[in-house]
Amino acid sequence: MIRFSLGCDHGHEFEGWFRSSDDFETQRKRGLIDCPDCGSHHVDKTLMAPAVSTGRRREKMALAMNAEQRRIMGEMKALSEKLRENADYVGDKFAEEARKIHFGETDARGIYGEASPDEAKSLAEDGVPFMPIPVFPEHRN
Ligand SMILES: [Zn+2]
Repeated sequence: MIRFSLGCDHGHEFEGWFRSSDDFETQRKRGLIDCPDCGSHHVDKTLMAPAVSTGRRREKMALAMNAEQRRIMGEMKALSEKLRENADYVGDKFAEEARKIHFGETDARGIYGEASPDEAKSLAEDGVPFMPIPVFPEHRN
């Protein structure tokens, strides 16, 4: 027996047990499967929710080899420190806080913290101005 996550055309979700994927298709085509909530026969398999990843996101790295690159790296480091000096660290609440500040729900101030790729995408879509900042090992909070 295989368990499938199913959904109807009204957005109800439920589960069903079938002998095989073919068995499911046959029953579905014959209208033998109906939604327990609304009785709709327009039922199909839904995608399983993806497993939640708890791993830390990989960060971009740079290795400075010549004098010019090392000079730039030093400047980036200084800028990064300056940015942090005048900003509040908000940890993983970055997206939440950035949005509040952008929409005037809390005091306007500089903040820095961490955001997941999804949070960053959603912030960009909302027009919140933010940018990734370089992280040096000694800055890890
Ligand atoms: Zn339904």
